[in-house]
Amino acid sequence: MADIRFDGKVAIVTGAGGGLGRQHALELARRGAKVVVNDLGGSVDGSGGSSEAAQKVVEEIKAFGGEAIANGSSVTDDTGVANMVKQAMDAWGRIDILIANAGILRDKTLTKMELADFELVMQVHVFGTFKPIKAVWDIMKAQNYGRIVVTTSSSGMYGNFGQSNYGAAKMAVLGLMNTLKLEGAKNDVKINAISPVAATRMTEGLMPPEVLAKLAPEYVTPGVVYLCSEEAPTGAILTAGAGAFALSRIYETEGVYLGEGGLSAEEVRDNWDQITAEAGQKAYFNGGEQGQKFFRKMAGG
Ligand code: NAD
Repeated sequence: MADIRFDGKVAIVTGAGGGLGRQHALELARRGAKVVVNDLGGSVDGSGGSSEAAQKVVEEIKAFGGEAIANGSSVTDDTGVANMVKQAMDAWGRIDILIANAGILRDKTLTKMELADFELVMQVHVFGTFKPIKAVWDIMKAQNYGRIVVTTSSSGMYGNFGQSNYGAAKMAVLGLMNTLKLEGAKNDVKINAISPVAATRMTEGLMPPEVLAKLAPEYVTPGVVYLCSEEAPTGAILTAGAGAFALSRIYETEGVYLGEGGLSAEEVRDNWDQITAEAGQKAYFNGGEQGQKFFRKMAGG
């Protein structure tokens, strides 16, 4: 099969001044995309900011003959996000790809977590994913083409000690994706999620250096590039790290129909083994499929 190329395509990558986002931006540009490199340039906990980080990546792209523009806005700032989109439209007249990658951490156990730590993390990951998507959505729909990648995490899908704010935010972006994959389908706007594991300033100190050495962001980017391509699926959660790739899914068991017994907590307890049995479990593509199963079971199917 032909190589994946993005000639003539325009991409916005948020949080692309370092870590994973930088790698995604470089690789899209190497494959022909024109890229808006967004980064607020703050610290890992979301404080401070400068447009230098984004500008540096733009220079890297220009150095190999690629085309790129820097944007130093916060993904949470309405005017900044509007400007970021305007920059792309003014320069190149279309937006084909959005990678919502910007992120911060404010790790604390719930006992120590202030409301502000929860709010800021939700702002950056949830609103900072929603706002850029909202800003490019109608452009992509009008073009009848768009590829969006949101960035989730195993912390959200499975849990991680000290990350209730981050975990909640990372699941929220999957909820956003699950609905938008349906709303974008008619206009060939596909949306997927990447769940990365990579050595960046975010994971510094969390793992020993010899492990981090095997987790370069370069190992995640190929998965993201595929999700940005014309052949991309939609609604997939691709997990990637260290050269391994897998799909995460939410499964629902076939379950059991208890009829009138479903009105009793004891019946639920006594049927727990059948409720949780894995045989016949399914990953649904939309929420309505769950209701259909309930009606099927009620009808004896
Ligand atoms: P990173 O800190 O190197 O990159 C995040 C970038 O986002 C930074 O350059 C930062 O300046 C930028 N940013 C933060 N707030 C911003 C804002 N409001 N507006 C614009 N830019 C902003 O960390 P990373 O590991 O490369 O993280 C990239 C994404 O991957 C994040 O969404 C993160 O949650 C996610 N993630 C990373 C890992 C991992 O193992 N590194 C695991 C799961 C998920």
